[in-house]
Amino acid sequence: MIVRGGTIVTARGVEKADIVVNRGRIAEVGRDLEGYGQVIDAAGLHVFPGGIDSHVHFNEPGRSEWETIGDGSAALAAGGYTAFIDMPLNSLPVTTTVAAFDLKLAATRRSAKVDYGLWAGLVPGNIDQLEPLVARGAMGFKAFMCASGIDEFPPCSLDILREGMAKIAGLGSILLVHAESPALLTDPRGPRPEDFLASRPPDAEIEAIGEVISLARDTGCRTPPFRSAGNRDDLRAMLAAGEVEMVVSDHSPSTLELKQGDDFRAVWGGISGCQSTRRLLLAQDGLELPVVAAVTATRIAERFGIRDKGDIAPGFDADLWLVDLGQTDVVMRNDLLYRNRFSAHEGQRVRGRTVRTLVRGVDAGKGKPIRRGGRS
Ligand SMILES: [Zn+2]
Repeated sequence: MIVRGGTIVTARGVEKADIVVNRGRIAEVGRDLEGYGQVIDAAGLHVFPGGIDSHVHFNEPGRSEWETIGDGSAALAAGGYTAFIDMPLNSLPVTTTVAAFDLKLAATRRSAKVDYGLWAGLVPGNIDQLEPLVARGAMGFKAFMCASGIDEFPPCSLDILREGMAKIAGLGSILLVHAESPALLTDPRGPRPEDFLASRPPDAEIEAIGEVISLARDTGCRTPPFRSAGNRDDLRAMLAAGEVEMVVSDHSPSTLELKQGDDFRAVWGGISGCQSTRRLLLAQDGLELPVVAAVTATRIAERFGIRDKGDIAPGFDADLWLVDLGQTDVVMRNDLLYRNRFSAHEGQRVRGRTVRTLVRGVDAGKGKPIRRGGRS
């Protein structure tokens, strides 16, 4: 197969080139290549490496009324993503044991439309599960320092964190920490969003991050909350300057009912967004295309040690997003493929219309597991 005449976007730059694909892998990238088999005309289109969203909550098994693996992964494919790594909550059971991991893996194998990996959880009492979870293919571990919002997924004390981190480091895996110091959090004094923000002061994060850093040099990544327009603008500036390692959706859906009401304390905290991440980024002024490729694919693959994904180069999986960047639009409810079709991004400007999303050279439809280190 050959993808002919597209404008290839990688973390290294932008160039017009053909892509020769052989058995799902990229064989050659260059000008005026000889193709064989199927020809995909990409003239006038941009071709990005398929995105990898390493932070989604697809909630299966157990909370499929919030989201399903089938709908969530279809939404990802529609937005230019060819792989995801699913979080260990808010499914039921939570993914903190080998048995729960196997259940989720079976559900994902049945339904995923793009390639997939699974996070596991570090919680009090499951140290003995970490090694077999890594052996099963867990891509990394998630831990909370404060309440997670899901009772089945309790937070770790500093002692448990220390023990878990030593074990995880020894296994060559990685840990993602939700870093807020519980001692500095209070109950919101009222129902408004401002009350909620005031109950979780920035100091709680700063202290917790300091604690995690002192526990280990490599603590994984974190997602700072959007406390203010100033924070948001600072983040955008850092992103444009190439100082942000990765951008993920934290797609954490629920039913519409759980997102409604005037009491911010009672409203479900997650938002749906994984279908729009890339196109929202592409609509940002001043963000270079290679930065978008880097933060949504290349650097994520590097962080997880997925050697055959995240780039358009010989030997990599033919995970390709063909997109018409001449099209601009806004996020509209009718276009969303989530189980619950609404999003906090509705009405926001997006750029790019997905023409095709190829997973290992074929249209998205049937995912395969990804592994740290890659298949080869
Ligand atoms: Zn999350």
